[in-house]
Amino acid sequence: MGDTAVMINIQSLIDDAKCFETVRALRWPGGVLCPSCNDTEITKQGRDDTQPERQRYLCTSCERRFDDLTDTIFAGHHQPLRVWILCLYFMGLTLSNQHIAAELDLHPSDVHQMTCQLRQGIVVKKTTPTLSDEVECDEVYSVAGHKGQPEAVVKKGDTAGADDSRASAAGAHSQRRSRRSSG
Ligand SMILES: [Zn+2]
Repeated sequence: MGDTAVMINIQSLIDDAKCFETVRALRWPGGVLCPSCNDTEITKQGRDDTQPERQRYLCTSCERRFDDLTDTIFAGHHQPLRVWILCLYFMGLTLSNQHIAAELDLHPSDVHQMTCQLRQGIVVKKTTPTLSDEVECDEVYSVAGHKGQPEAVVKKGDTAGADDSRASAAGAHSQRRSRRSSG
């Protein structure tokens, strides 16, 4: 492969600032929230020492310090954020793990681990899952499929094991609501 064509390295075309912007939009669609107390009284605290696009914050309510990646599956991972974002994009195109691995020059087993984590949502699951986690998981799918094949993404989501629990959780939620409204 690549003998007769110019090889384009997609990673070199991806902007780090846009990747961090994407994470912020995915996890905080309504603005930055403290991951500890969910307060919106947040002040910016400069940028990460080694990743200049990674914004640091201080919660003025509980005084927790955090940044764009705190409590996400990207935090503390050796893969650069752009690799994760591209992985998410390729998932939206319904590429196989093998295909994604080839595109990103990764081992298929690493990609398998990454796609499994991404399907669970980008925010690390706490012991008691909240509704916002579910919403973020859906956001991941809609964004990833935006420029690809939305129908295929939906179809893939339906067959994924993680979606069964999500669907049943949503079903339980609506049942609770309908019961409450009827009673
Ligand atoms: Zn806080």
